[in-house]
Amino acid sequence: MYRVLPPAHGFRWVVGGPNNTLRVPQHLFDGNVPPPVVVTAIEQVAAARSASRVFSATALTSQDCNLRCPYCIQNTSSSPVQRVSDIRMTPERATKVAQYICAAAARGEADQITLLLFGGEPLMAPEACQVLLENVRPTNASVWTNGALLTASRIDPLVDRGLDTIFVTFDGGRTTHDLTRSNLAGRGTYDLVLANVLETAKRHPHLNWVVRSSLMPQTADTQHALVADLSQLPKRAATASLILGLVDDIGIGFDNVTPYSPDVAAEMVSINRAARAAGFHTSLRTPISSCVYCSDPTLGITIDADGTLYSCWQTAGRTEWSIGSLKDGIDPAQLPQRWVACDVNAAPHGNTAERDNFWNLVDQDILDASIGLDPNDE
Ligand code: SF4
Repeated sequence: MYRVLPPAHGFRWVVGGPNNTLRVPQHLFDGNVPPPVVVTAIEQVAAARSASRVFSATALTSQDCNLRCPYCIQNTSSSPVQRVSDIRMTPERATKVAQYICAAAARGEADQITLLLFGGEPLMAPEACQVLLENVRPTNASVWTNGALLTASRIDPLVDRGLDTIFVTFDGGRTTHDLTRSNLAGRGTYDLVLANVLETAKRHPHLNWVVRSSLMPQTADTQHALVADLSQLPKRAATASLILGLVDDIGIGFDNVTPYSPDVAAEMVSINRAARAAGFHTSLRTPISSCVYCSDPTLGITIDADGTLYSCWQTAGRTEWSIGSLKDGIDPAQLPQRWVACDVNAAPHGNTAERDNFWNLVDQDILDASIGLDPNDE
């Protein structure tokens, strides 16, 4: 599978996935179809990658969270919909979860395991995180955190046990982040999270950082301030990426949703350019259908804090979407209806044409920058 971006500068990008792209002269296309040699090259790279079997496990060590974001898909007591419990994974349960992951990876004939520690806020159950890392011994290990608990006592033992990547979430710069990412007392967390990130990066210069900042109408104007603040991340030390994410309404009536529009695409391009100038990587959109965690039941699983199995983190904690348990494994009868991807019940940000146009504009700029094309040469 590949996609073709619209013509620009006499060329078109053919995209088979991250680091699997080719820039092809427009005159070689037959309509929207690239020449066969290009298709073959893209498919060969994709096939070589899929030859490596990686089992991707998501473990929600805590459904509970120390923040109260209004759009949350997890446990937010202020939400009109109570979706999940506030359970945390015990170390004993983590041992069983680790055994399940290793056995499932062996059944899937995987030669590598990727482990994502997720929540709620996973660092609310630090011992469970340690047990998982010790017992799974994954090839790659990451944690997805809101950063407020990113302290030495919680994170250093995880780094010692193989944690290599930290995903940290922001809602733009200080003024907008503090409006939505507040703690139980209603106080904003921006300064705390920023300080935690910079301190952790100083102590662990080899860590990879992925900053995930929500792009909502209200955060558009403050993303540049976030980039500027995070540009203090030690450059040589960190491999840092910026991902701008569109926040979904997943059925709770959250109405601060960003539409797929050329104006928003232009905003995203502008923020991405600032991020690259500050030393961050920016990456192409990965369609949810290619998500390594939920695209193949033999090579991925999401396990809730209570040991219930799900296909993805968005359905985790909602028993009507459960596909099995640690004890009994996946129930094959549930797979056709309940093996779903994370946007299963998200309201769309626009129609298909608007979506494609949006990501084409954003990805074109990332690809052009990757070969040093001057963005002003348009
Ligand atoms: S930090 Fe994450 S899990 Fe916690 S309330 Fe916000 S979006 Fe939900």
